[in-house]
Amino acid sequence: MHEAAIAQGIFDAIEKESRQQNAKPLSAKITCGLLNAVNDEVLQFAFDAISKDTICESTKLNTCHKPFLGQCKNCDEQFEVDISSPLCPGCGSDNFELLPDEPIMLQEIEFDTE
Ligand SMILES: [Zn+2]
Repeated sequence: MHEAAIAQGIFDAIEKESRQQNAKPLSAKITCGLLNAVNDEVLQFAFDAISKDTICESTKLNTCHKPFLGQCKNCDEQFEVDISSPLCPGCGSDNFELLPDEPIMLQEIEFDTE
């Protein structure tokens, strides 16, 4: 299962950081591209299974899905591609290139500081 491997990677990163900070993580923010789309619920479920009885138990994952980015071949503008109207907002051209999808990344961890 795709999400299980991702959850393991996220868990490893959060656990390492938690040890360094010596604090319990409350939530973690993750971003990923649309093509890498993960099912948030499945990811949380997989993470919960891995993190059971560890410092990361009950950490809430907040997944943010990034839109597609395009680069206009006409005016070089980089923009978020609106699927329903895929045109460059700078010059109105439809001659653009889709940029590679963003990988799944752990952005930040919120720790219990009390
Ligand atoms: Zn343009």
